[in-house]
Order: sequence, then structure tokens, then C-alpha cells
Amino acid sequence: MRIAIGGAGIAGLAAAAFFARVGHNVLVYDKAPKPTPVGSGLIIQPTGQAALAALGSLDDLAKCGARLERLDGRLECGRKVLDVRYDALGPDIFGLSVHRSALFDCLHDAAREAGVIFSYGQEVVGAESVGDSVRLRFADGEVSPSAALVVDALGLRTPFVERENCYLDYGALWANVPFPSVGGFSERALAQRYQGASISAGVMPIGALPDSDGPMAAFFWTLRPQNYESWLMTPLPRWKDRVLTLWPEAAPVLDQISSHEDFILAQYAHHTAPAPVNGRIVHIGDAWHAASPQLGQGANMALLDAWALSLALERHETVEAALAAFAKMRGRHVWLYQTISRLFTPVYQSDSKLLPALRDKLAEPLSDFWFMPKLLASMVSGTLGEPLKGLKPS
Ligand SMILES: Cc1cc2nc3c(=O)[nH]c(=O)nc-3n(C[C@H](O)[C@H](O)[C@H](O)COP(=O)(O)OP(=O)(O)OC[C@H]3O[C@@H](n4cnc5c(N)ncnc54)[C@H](O)[C@@H]3O)c2cc1C
Repeated sequence: MRIAIGGAGIAGLAAAAFFARVGHNVLVYDKAPKPTPVGSGLIIQPTGQAALAALGSLDDLAKCGARLERLDGRLECGRKVLDVRYDALGPDIFGLSVHRSALFDCLHDAAREAGVIFSYGQEVVGAESVGDSVRLRFADGEVSPSAALVVDALGLRTPFVERENCYLDYGALWANVPFPSVGGFSERALAQRYQGASISAGVMPIGALPDSDGPMAAFFWTLRPQNYESWLMTPLPRWKDRVLTLWPEAAPVLDQISSHEDFILAQYAHHTAPAPVNGRIVHIGDAWHAASPQLGQGANMALLDAWALSLALERHETVEAALAAFAKMRGRHVWLYQTISRLFTPVYQSDSKLLPALRDKLAEPLSDFWFMPKLLASMVSGTLGEPLKGLKPS
């Protein structure tokens, strides 16, 4: 069948590749003038790895990513406030930490090789039904060819879902730097430092980039988007001094940063659309469920949505039955992780004084409590709620 996809981000590209590989005629539209991976590092969790393996793209991505075995968050004094070890779930379980462009290229290549047709510079503003089919409407007044299904993979700002006040108070600045060879950083751990919940920094290994001489890292610094302008006015050395009071060992990372322009500002948001399906339009990825990246699930949930939707279309005779099955396959997992993200985000990023105080007292003793290592590893791996049941052949 013909499927029109709005959005060539992670969800849209993955869905396009899955659909085209089983013979659907797939058209993808994006408002960007050319393929554009925006952002910095992200972690492909075991759930996302399973989806990429089903697509045949995991091995290629693994070649340029970093194998992450641990998330290690501490206070300035060295006390642990986040300690996640993937191997609590088994020796072969890890996070694959990559630059967003590596994932983007891998999915884009898979989609293009499977025969997907891309149209860039097309801003989707809506959709209209014509009998049993549906087509996208663009800002220039044009429409797409009629399709049996429209997939809304337009991300947080999709015109198909009404959203108000979904932005969180805190976001972060992100920069790519060569992986620091001094300072005690491990290429297998994401390291973070916290002071309360409103100040934090992190160093995340992201493997090699096509134009890098060696392994790279993403450095991030919590910032309120409303303070971005005043941060831009702050001399860089003064800001670096502020970071160093929190994390002196970050000096070799900061030495690699020479300009405010080395950073991009990421705004975080939290929102869940009331339903993933509306007639012949289905929302996937952030268009359905956006969350702050504290739990590192967004890209993985987008990959799972794409995989589940493709399987549902294969397994059911009618589009309606497939969409109902898709909503059932993904609904519980989406609800669970949106709830966990809602609860945990303020513990690590907010103005609260109480939540980080409790965290600082309880996290270290609790993290060694008998079931906690496994629970924390499952939560971060994305496997709570068994999202792979019904997707992976048993
Ligand atoms: C700083 C940061 C770090 C993150 N870290 C992680 C992590 O470690 N692990 C993880 O799993 N997730 C992480 N995430 C979340 C993850 O990046 C998102 O959940 C994921 O990108 C969602 O993919 P998507 O395809 O749904 O949306 P997007 O990637 O936002 O793609 C949407 C696409 O639609 C296009 N578009 C938008 N509007 C229109 C329109 N009207 N018409 C046409 N085209 C349009 C855009 O150009 C874009 O190409 C992070 C996010 C941020 C911001």
C-alpha cells in the first residue's frame, strides 16, 4: 500500500525503512531543505538495539558507537546519586552511545536502499481524507498523492496534536568534543555531576564521527532556555570557572571548547497525545510521546513504534485492524515510561530543593539494595513493561 510519512527524523526514517522493506510504497516529507540530523549524543538502549537489529542496521551503527556499561552520576563530594550498571541484566547488555548523525545516516541509508522516496523542503500543515484514503497538506497549498495511511512522525511540534505548555523549565547546552584522554573519564561510562537539581553537567562517550580523528564525547550543561541569552553574554572563561567549581576533573573537556557557538541549546518537553490513532493518521515517536531525555528513551521509543507499526500492518488484513493492534502493542509501554519520566525528571532537573535532598540521601544506599541494580538497569534499558514481547520472534 502507499504510505505517506510526515517527518524524516528517527521515527519517520525507521518507519519508512521498515515499511519499504516489506514492499510498501513509501513517501517521506520533511520541512528541512535537506537531510538534517540535529542534536548531539544519544543512547541506543537494548530496546532500540532490538529494533535496529530487526532492520539489519545494528551492526553498522555499532561500528561507530561507544559501548556504554554504566551511568555514573555523583555530587561534587563524590557521593553517588545515580548508579546504573547494564550488566545487572546480563553480560551482553549495554547501551550503544552514538552521535545523532550516526543513527540518522544509518536509518536514512536503510530507507533509501529500500526504495523510499524523500521530498525535502515540504512543510506539513495538515491532512485530508478522500474516501478510504488520506493525503498530507503542505504549507505551499500542495497535497501529497493519496495514501492508505498517513504516519505523523513530525516530532514534538506536529500540527496534528494540540499542545500547550509542554516545555519543561530546564533544557541543556550540548557540545561535541574529542574524548578526554586525561581526567579519569571512561569510554564505557556516562559521567555526570550534580548540585541540587538545577545544576548539572555530563560527559557522554559517543564513539567516532565521520570527520573525527578519534573517539568523541558529548558534553552537556543544564540551562534554563530563558537564560540562554544571558549565558551568551557571559564570557566563556567565567562560565568555565563556574563549571569547574562543580567538576574540576572536567577541565580537559572544557579546554576543547573555544566559543559559545560550539554549543546547541536543547529544549526539553513532556507531552503525550490523547491517542496514537486518529482515523487513518497514526502518531509515532515524539509526535505521540515526548519526554525529557533524563531516562534516555525517546529515540528508542520512536524505533519501537516504527517496528511495531510495521509488524501490525504485516499481521492484519485491514489498516483499521492494524492500527488498533499497534495502539495495543505500544500503549502500555508508552504510558509506563511517560509516567516514570514525569516522576523522575524533577529529581534530576528542576527547582525543587526537597527532591534532590532526598535523592542525595537515599540514592547511594538504595542503589545497592538487592533488587535495585536490576530494576535501575531495566528502567534505563527500556525493558520495563516487556515492550519486546510480541515484536521479537520468541
Ligand atoms: C538533547 C537531547 C538528548 C537526547 N538524548 C536521548 C537519548 O540519549 N536516548 C534517546 O532515546 N532519546 C534521546 N533524546 C530524545 C530523542 O532525540 C527524540 O525522542 C527523538 O529524536 C524523537 O524522534 P522523532 O522522529 O519522533 O522526532 P524528531 O527527531 O524531532 O523528528 C521530527 C522530524 O519532523 C520534521 N518536521 C517537524 N515539523 C514538520 C512539519 N510541519 N513538516 C515537515 N516536517 C516537519 C523535522 O524536521 C524532523 O526531521 C534526546 C533528545 C534531546 C533533545
